[in-house]
Amino acid sequence: MILAASEVMRGKTRMPKLDFFTQILGVRWRILADHRLPRDTDGDCNRELKRIRIHPSNTPKKKLEILHHEWQHAAFDHLDEVYVSDSSADFAEILFRPDVLAFLGLQLIPDSPPRAS
Ligand SMILES: [Zn+2]
Repeated sequence: MILAASEVMRGKTRMPKLDFFTQILGVRWRILADHRLPRDTDGDCNRELKRIRIHPSNTPKKKLEILHHEWQHAAFDHLDEVYVSDSSADFAEILFRPDVLAFLGLQLIPDSPPRAS
């Protein structure tokens, strides 16, 4: 999990719920963590409902990768799955570098263990 340094210093280290609305290219979407997703599904993007769901039982890096992956499906419906998957994995790899986290003023804190696969 990534929290701003100020949040960690205040002791807010419990995983917050994730459920919010945001704009993706001018369209209102809901993004939420949902443990009811099937165990073999890390996340999904429902273009009809304008909803992105992320399984919360993954590592922080994987959750970022899933969020980026599903965001790309929401924003760019025409992209193929391989491009979306590879670019999201690359993005998570870059963001989770300690030097990049430090540059952004963020730090990794302990989280619940990922689900067994
Ligand atoms: Zn996909």
